[in-house]
Amino acid sequence: TPSTSLSKEELLELDQKYVWHHMSPHNPNPMVLVSGKNSTVTDIDGKNYLDGMSGLWCVNVGYGREEIAKAAAEQIQAIPYVPMSQGNVPSILLAEKLNEWLAGDYRIFYSNSGSDANEVAFKIARQYHHQNGEPLRYKFISRYRAYHGNSMGALSATGQANRKVKYEPLSSGFQHVAPPYCYRCPFGKTYGDCGIQCAKAIEDVINYEGAETIAGIIMEPVITGGGVIVPPAEYLTKVREICDKFGILLIVDEVICGFGRSGKQFGHQNFGIKPDIVTMAKGMTSAYSPLSATAVRSELYDVFKQPGADHHFRHVNTFGGNPASCAVALKNLEIIEKENLIERASYLGDELRKKLDGLLIYKNVGDIRSFGFIAGIELVEDKKSKKPASPEMVLKIITECKAQGLIIGRNGDTVPGYNNILTLSPPFTTTDEELDFIVSTLNKAFSNL
Ligand code: PMP
Repeated sequence: TPSTSLSKEELLELDQKYVWHHMSPHNPNPMVLVSGKNSTVTDIDGKNYLDGMSGLWCVNVGYGREEIAKAAAEQIQAIPYVPMSQGNVPSILLAEKLNEWLAGDYRIFYSNSGSDANEVAFKIARQYHHQNGEPLRYKFISRYRAYHGNSMGALSATGQANRKVKYEPLSSGFQHVAPPYCYRCPFGKTYGDCGIQCAKAIEDVINYEGAETIAGIIMEPVITGGGVIVPPAEYLTKVREICDKFGILLIVDEVICGFGRSGKQFGHQNFGIKPDIVTMAKGMTSAYSPLSATAVRSELYDVFKQPGADHHFRHVNTFGGNPASCAVALKNLEIIEKENLIERASYLGDELRKKLDGLLIYKNVGDIRSFGFIAGIELVEDKKSKKPASPEMVLKIITECKAQGLIIGRNGDTVPGYNNILTLSPPFTTTDEELDFIVSTLNKAFSNL
């Protein structure tokens, strides 16, 4: 941190004057965070908070990792920048490592953010179909409630109206389907007796749109930012079958679920499917440096190399594959492997879920959902009506937790009045005692309601 003699109040005044924060109405008391260690962040006044959200679902290995800082510094000293058209050592080694983690044969295209990675996926999918002799395939299908990024294509794939309405016209060719949301089944069914209608509905949309126009389906293994919506176990297998039946590419957005967060290296590995394209960011560097990647099955890449094809994928990205970011990612993956942090995330996720289930005794806790070390608590007015809890009630819990030194998240405001899901996604270095602290703090906040 650059040294400053300014007080917290003076800094916040400058912040108010010059910095444009996103979503500021939801963040009435911003903090000025200056340091972090493991799962704890510290503000400029020296107050500690347990970061129950790993920043924004990304600081997987925890804060204060000196070995990552050292890897970045050494790489910046050696060579800070290499254009994408050339090779650099960390980006080559990282591409190999990602293949190992993906347990497949993928070509890696680097960029800088999750949104970037999804834009690249859309462009590659469209160009692939062109070069494969099916130029009509340009549409993408995604789910309502899902978030895929803030740039025009990624926002078009996003199924959250309130993020889009003021920014139209967006990109054309993006269709949405209902999410696999068992707690509020869009088809009015109950799991076990539903025939996985939510997957079948995708096939209906494909037929209505014309299968020969669909380039890809993009989905996260579970919808994270749109409410921690965990699909039935067989859903993704069915989606894979539908893609195969119609020659559609399956793009899996692992921006949040990837890199151990799901209890496996990648979220889709929990469902035993093989995506055609995988997009990743956040946890790839544990947020120590901006970096993202689009992994494309090698058979697709080979089509770009067919004789006579214009194999040039026209997408230049100044910072893509930045050597320092790739060095950071390599060190991050090394730490995860050395410290068995994926096993740890899986264990912590199971423990957290068991403990959170105890919150169901409160009348405002309607549903608890989890996937690996990601948890969602859906708040309602009462369990019978399932009416979403008021924004004031949700804010009260968040504020109370913050006062006790625990940062938690909130989402779901994809549908007006439904900003009612609390989220937890702590670093994998969280201790058992810290896990107990998370649950006891939530317990206190609910019993005070
Ligand atoms: N996909 C998913 C699933 C995400 O959660 C996010 C960001 N929260 C993105 C894409 C976009 O990533 P970024 O903010 O790095 O552009």
